[in-house]
Amino acid sequence: MNLNLLEECRGAKRIGITGHVRPDGDCLGACLGLWQYLANCLPGTEIKVFLEKPADIFKDIKGFGEIDSEFPEEPAFDVFFVLDTSTDRLGGAEKYFRAAGKTINIDHHVSNPGGGQINLIRPEVGSTCELIYDLLDLARLDKDMAQALYVGIIHDTGVFQYSNTTPDTLKKGAELISYGFDFPKLILETFYQKTYVQAQVMGRALMESIRFLGGSCIVSAIDKKTMEFYNVGPKDLDGIVNQLRNIEGVDCAIFLYETATLEYKVSMRSSEKVNVAEVAAYFGGGGHARAAGCNMTGTFHDCVNNLSLHIEKALKKWEAEHDERNHNS
Ligand code: AMP
Ligand code: MN
Ligand code: MN
Repeated sequence: MNLNLLEECRGAKRIGITGHVRPDGDCLGACLGLWQYLANCLPGTEIKVFLEKPADIFKDIKGFGEIDSEFPEEPAFDVFFVLDTSTDRLGGAEKYFRAAGKTINIDHHVSNPGGGQINLIRPEVGSTCELIYDLLDLARLDKDMAQALYVGIIHDTGVFQYSNTTPDTLKKGAELISYGFDFPKLILETFYQKTYVQAQVMGRALMESIRFLGGSCIVSAIDKKTMEFYNVGPKDLDGIVNQLRNIEGVDCAIFLYETATLEYKVSMRSSEKVNVAEVAAYFGGGGHARAAGCNMTGTFHDCVNNLSLHIEKALKKWEAEHDERNHNS
């Protein structure tokens, strides 16, 4: 990879780093991993990380307490990094991106057109943390950085299970755990563990789920009233859509939660037949072929009907291609 991080930052007095709104493990791991690396390699340089408040499960990652979630007015940054997202999902950090002297966008979303002055966009790589790993002088890697990057990799690959996991992902994972952090605890506490109330909400979403398109699709939603009843927020709903996708016979799972009256955040997951990034892009969202999201307006039924049209088309296309292949073999 020909992007030299330290070269790009040479002479910079102030460096800023951000990721996407509602930061996930990969976004957070990449931002804090890079923050630690630059802080170690460039003593005397002011380096700040701006992100919406991440979930407390990530509190053991070094630098968590340094994250600025207030987005105050700041003088322009000499270099500003945008990680794990295109430049249109920066929330409160967008103003720093606009004002910065040099902007660098590092991401793995297929939907990212590359909005930085310098862009490293690799959709074939499972996580942004793997991209960051490739850019580091490994002689400077330490236990805390290794832990941050490992968190990102396990979150975006579903602990090395999703189809975006490559031999290279596992080699990096192997190298990272050699630094000796407590990886079973990290995996449990940041990926699998749920609070009791989170488990209850997930149970409710599973119980109220509806299958359609002959059982190949499943959808469930949590409305605002239910979120208020259980006193939960969007961060408490992570994992529900994956659980829906794990159901036998399901090719495509959809989970929606209400963000405002007649407004929903939509998450989609698929096995192999539906490219959900294409479906999400149609509604102004994006993501990856197997995991994507968008925001939609309308009633629950409007949203599902609109999504279903595109999913059905994708399923039919896949089946036609598949039939053809069977025919030809
Ligand atoms: P989620 O369903 O929110 O876990 O997101 C799945 C994937 O889709 C992640 O890689 C997100 O970054 C991406 N994604 C989710 N929502 C959007 C959106 N509104 N626009 C673009 N990408 C999104
Ligand atoms: Mn992400
Ligand atoms: Mn990612």
